[in-house]
Amino acid sequence: MKIPIAKTKLTEEEFNNIQKPLKSGWLVQGKYVKKFEQQFSTFTGIKHSIAVTSCTSALHLSLSALGFKFNDEAIVPAFTWISSANVVEHLGGKVVFCDIDLKTFNIDVNKIESLITPKTKVIIPVHLFGLPSNMDEIMILAKKYKLWVVEDAACGFGAKFKSRHVGAFGNAGCFSFHPRKIITTGEGGMITTNDSDLAIKLRSMRDHGAEVTDYDRHTSPKPYLLPDFPYAGYNYRMTDIQAALGSTQMSRANQIINERKELASEFNKRMLEFSHFQVPFTDREYDHGFQSYPCLFNFKKISMQALPKINKHRNQLMQNLESLGISTRPATHAVHMLKYYKNKYKIKPVDFPNSYIANQVSISLPLYNGMTIDELDYIIKGIRKHL
Ligand SMILES: *Cc1c(COP(=O)(O)O)cnc(C)c1O
Repeated sequence: MKIPIAKTKLTEEEFNNIQKPLKSGWLVQGKYVKKFEQQFSTFTGIKHSIAVTSCTSALHLSLSALGFKFNDEAIVPAFTWISSANVVEHLGGKVVFCDIDLKTFNIDVNKIESLITPKTKVIIPVHLFGLPSNMDEIMILAKKYKLWVVEDAACGFGAKFKSRHVGAFGNAGCFSFHPRKIITTGEGGMITTNDSDLAIKLRSMRDHGAEVTDYDRHTSPKPYLLPDFPYAGYNYRMTDIQAALGSTQMSRANQIINERKELASEFNKRMLEFSHFQVPFTDREYDHGFQSYPCLFNFKKISMQALPKINKHRNQLMQNLESLGISTRPATHAVHMLKYYKNKYKIKPVDFPNSYIANQVSISLPLYNGMTIDELDYIIKGIRKHL
């Protein structure tokens, strides 16, 4: 059996709908982008949705539109995908890493306040792997110190904190439609916001800074209208081909999310037989979207001293599973250990111990729509065989 870490499974309807914009002759940011955005807002309950080219461009654009600039500081969890931090660098800002809580893999909200300085402008909480961050605590700090909050909800589609969809709490929420995420447009992203003025600015800045979109211009009865450009914007427009795919997946979004939740709960039941894993955190108030199924290996005996040994054991497990055709991955990176950040900020792995630990001993098991119970049992058998 061959089990990849993730797999994209599209429907006939999706294949058919991708062709519609191609046949219509209007390929970029037209009516399919509009439709996808409307569906996204309906689904999340967030007023405005602005489609862009990726979650990374969504984060970059959000920070830029809010006014984040040279020398400003951003608080970013140390354990995340590298682009949560890169966007701060793109704008000449300084990344201030915050350690994570090992139970959730998310930013440790008790460690944020001591990192705030007069230069701090924004907190970028990450809803990692689909588990919401504690947005109550983060919004209290943001209010107290007048900070912006840009939620990295790349993996957060379908995730809710206290029944509210992630992306609804901060100034902006940023989602990814990369194939590793819950719904996909190949590459693609979405910004959500309840701030109507910010939404207008974001729409303009994703489109070179234009006040009017090409589509609205071309469908207007006034051909003399050319837009003015109040901003030096970017080209972060999504194509209608991507949006046609995203929009069609939105019509089965609940089914996609529920299937992932069911697979995760099947995993949870079977993982009980092993004492070597901390399975993903769940709680009544933290509705997990299960972008992936990240575990911590051998959590009971973890210490800095024992870390190299546990890391070796985890790597062996991953290698043995790979030889059985089962792909696993470290859950994600500790960004402070990656060359650019390590060198620029002179950081040591142990400066953010929990992120370091997560980097060394986390393991994500395969989880994707269309995964069968036979496949799931094969993974469990593989783990049992190794242990
Ligand atoms: C995937 C991911 C991103 C980047 O998303 P892209 O759409 O590939 O740019 C950013 N942050 C997190 C936490 C991610 O998982």
